[in-house]
Amino acid sequence: MWIDTHCHLDAAEFGPGHASGLQARERARALGVGLCVYPAVEPANFAAVRELAHRTGDAYALGIHPLSVPRTDLEDLQALAAELERRADDPRLVAVGEIGLDFFLPELCTPAMRERQWQCYREQLRLAQRHGLPVILHVRRSADWLLKGLREAAARGRPVAGGIAHAFNGSAQQAQVLLALGCRLGFGGAATFEAARQLRQLFATLPPEALVLETDAPDIPPQWLYVNAALRAAGQSQGINSPAELPRIGAGLAGLRGLTPQALAVLTTANAAAALPRLAALLPATP
Ligand SMILES: [Zn+2]
Repeated sequence: MWIDTHCHLDAAEFGPGHASGLQARERARALGVGLCVYPAVEPANFAAVRELAHRTGDAYALGIHPLSVPRTDLEDLQALAAELERRADDPRLVAVGEIGLDFFLPELCTPAMRERQWQCYREQLRLAQRHGLPVILHVRRSADWLLKGLREAAARGRPVAGGIAHAFNGSAQQAQVLLALGCRLGFGGAATFEAARQLRQLFATLPPEALVLETDAPDIPPQWLYVNAALRAAGQSQGINSPAELPRIGAGLAGLRGLTPQALAVLTTANAAAALPRLAALLPATP
């Protein structure tokens, strides 16, 4: 069985009423994807991820994504705090996420926006601590600051209860520090490209307990769905990733570690349940 630890099944790409997303979820289930985690991105989609998780028998997270920071304010953080309170006993709520820092997109890199992201991230780490929930982290060109936030939170008392650095693409050294702080690292479509040498090397050499799998659907298409810039210019649209791609992604990556797909599925399922402990109670019984 596989776990897709990160997919946005409520994204607009999956059509009205999430119709094509729900179909993809069923295809994924038939291929052995036992659980999916749907992270929120801002208060406007809190209800959507929760309802989807209950409908498909999966899990969700609540948080404000760094890309949402420009259009959110203090009220949104209060809405998050209230929703975490309201859903505290929902067994399908497994993390605070997706939260983090994005120092890649130019519009998020102005001094004012960096500061706003930082404040929003720190406040959400506090909420995760208050609820004893792990975090699902978005980290892009921001690993050092992300780590600073986690260390600062730990220094305040009870550390953040681990979590997952999703779509990880940092250095081996940053990976080690994240691991030491109790985080696992999420790998998916990006590592299916032969040219992603550093990322594939990281996947091959990290300690086994570090690895979890994800699609980040509808984004980060694996190599077999990717439509390059020239074809896009000629009018072809980018392939839409879905949780149904996870088994093929896993099968492709297993070889990098000399594992069978089945062994990688067992390993990464155990790691996902360790990273997001509430998942353990949601795992479907294996036939
Ligand atoms: Zn995401």
